[in-house]
Amino acid sequence: MLIDSHAHLDDKKYGSVEKLLENFSAAGGGLLIDIGFDYDSSLSAKERADKYPNVFFAAGYHPQEADKNNDNALIAALTASDRCVAIGEIGLDYHYEPFDKNRQKELFVSQIALADECGLPIIIHSRDASAEMLSILKENSSYLKHGFLMHCYSESKEQARNYLDLGAYFAFGGAITFKNAKKDDTIRYIPFDRLLAETDCPYMAPVPYRGNLNEPQYVSFVYDKFADILGVGRAVVEEQFEKNFFTFFKKARR
Ligand SMILES: [Zn+2]
Repeated sequence: MLIDSHAHLDDKKYGSVEKLLENFSAAGGGLLIDIGFDYDSSLSAKERADKYPNVFFAAGYHPQEADKNNDNALIAALTASDRCVAIGEIGLDYHYEPFDKNRQKELFVSQIALADECGLPIIIHSRDASAEMLSILKENSSYLKHGFLMHCYSESKEQARNYLDLGAYFAFGGAITFKNAKKDDTIRYIPFDRLLAETDCPYMAPVPYRGNLNEPQYVSFVYDKFADILGVGRAVVEEQFEKNFFTFFKKARR
């Protein structure tokens, strides 16, 4: 069974969700997490998770939403759903100017605390913010006891060590299939039982669909690449990632 641990089914570029899920199943897809980035997308992710038994969801405010008025109580209400398996995606993004570092930090830390209150793991988006990310996680490590996942991991192997020391899991997507991805060493360094696959669709389609609209079925190419990098059969990767998924997302049930 393939699992896509990070998908945004809310995207307007998609026609029918049924078709996406059909394609996913046909490719061997079993489960996916539909990820919110603001209140509306978190709510619509919940609606899909309520409707489709192989869809779970995560709720939260993405760092690029930090300059808006965000109410954590709205997210807290969504987490009451038994289909909500994590708070996310949340974090820091210092890529696109302008951004307010303080507001991002404040929003991020408040949601780390919320995750702890709700007893949920965290899905973290971190872009061009390595140093601050690590110091925030260290300062708030008491809130991390339900786990955290570095999604679309793009930082160094050395930094992975620092996150591992705090208990991190790591998800990789289509970018590992790109030429010159230079992720092989990092992936081999991270313990197998801390890894997960994702698409981050509609973004970052893997080779051979690079540049096209991404969708959950293409997680299959990410699994193939993991098998290749780790030098194991694809079935071994599927089995381990399924274990990792249920260990990390404790609320997820088949
Ligand atoms: Zn995402």
